[in-house]
Amino acid sequence: MTDRPIIPFVSNISAASRNAWSVQLQAALPEFRIVPFDPNVDFANAEFALVANPDPDHLSQLPNLKWVQSLWAGVEKLVHSLPDDVAIVRMADPQLAKTMAEAVLTMTLYLHRDLPKYVSQHASGIWEQHDVVLPEDRKVGVLGLGALGRSACAALSQHGFDVLGWSRSHKSIPNVRCFSGEDGLTDLLHVSDIVVVLLPLTTTTRGLLDHTRLSRMKSGASVVNFARAQIIETDALLNMLAARHLNHAVLDVFAVEPLPQTDRLWRTDNLTILPHVSAPTNMKTASEVAAKNIATYFRTGQVPDCVDRQRGY
Ligand code: NAP
Repeated sequence: MTDRPIIPFVSNISAASRNAWSVQLQAALPEFRIVPFDPNVDFANAEFALVANPDPDHLSQLPNLKWVQSLWAGVEKLVHSLPDDVAIVRMADPQLAKTMAEAVLTMTLYLHRDLPKYVSQHASGIWEQHDVVLPEDRKVGVLGLGALGRSACAALSQHGFDVLGWSRSHKSIPNVRCFSGEDGLTDLLHVSDIVVVLLPLTTTTRGLLDHTRLSRMKSGASVVNFARAQIIETDALLNMLAARHLNHAVLDVFAVEPLPQTDRLWRTDNLTILPHVSAPTNMKTASEVAAKNIATYFRTGQVPDCVDRQRGY
């Protein structure tokens, strides 16, 4: 058992998380030895590494590295910190897509059934009923039609919502009106009652929902950001919320996490803050996905589908 090949696990996470991940990864990869990065261990033969928010300096100490398996789905930091000749394999876990779809449906229903209004009425002891809108009369626009966006669209259309989707390349998806390009984004924003952001953070999507594009949103619409904070310009969003051009925002992701107590977002009334919980990686299923990728590489020598460094996702 001692000559099992070593897989470095390079992470910058809490010791408790690292230990828990190590247990799951080791269970999924019994033919290997998962070894947390340590400058005193010889990783000279390692062609790949498991990574979770790794310190790039540590990765640079793996001289033979060809690819990394990220345990997270978002890889924007890796894209900017790893040399171009090291391939980045994202976590593409069907369980993650299911969990995200559940979160999107949950928060869409929260907005659809006016829960923010009722919670605030409760706080002031106000008994006031609002009209119930049918799901088919509610347009939900999903920005990003990748693994997570598609899964969210399926859950939304299954519930009866009128679903629209936007992506870089044009798509054809059952029960989803698909848009692409700048004009497509304008059209989607113009008609959607609820816009859900599920885009990767890249040089193109950073600041995408700025003042101009947010002002193109239908008056009284709401926005949900389950992707990355920097895709929406915070000042522009807060202006739109204060002016009531936007009814409500649900934010799960922030430029600084945990969101500092002093941040003005906490004091914005038509905003719901979630502590980055929409779709946490499930250690067991994600470890199994990583194990499958590594087994395939061992069998075929082929690096699994990886991030396109030009596109940034
Ligand atoms: P993905 O499979 O790579 O899909 C990305 C989608 O975005 C694709 O449809 C892509 O278009 C589209 N896209 C990218 N750049 C675009 C642009 N400039 N204009 C229009 N569309 C663009 O990614 P995913 O797995 O669905 O994940 C999306 C993001 O969710 C991740 O990057 C991560 O940041 C975030 N995430 C958040 C959490 C959380 O807990 N909050 C959890 C997991 C992931 P094409 O289809 O044309 O390529």
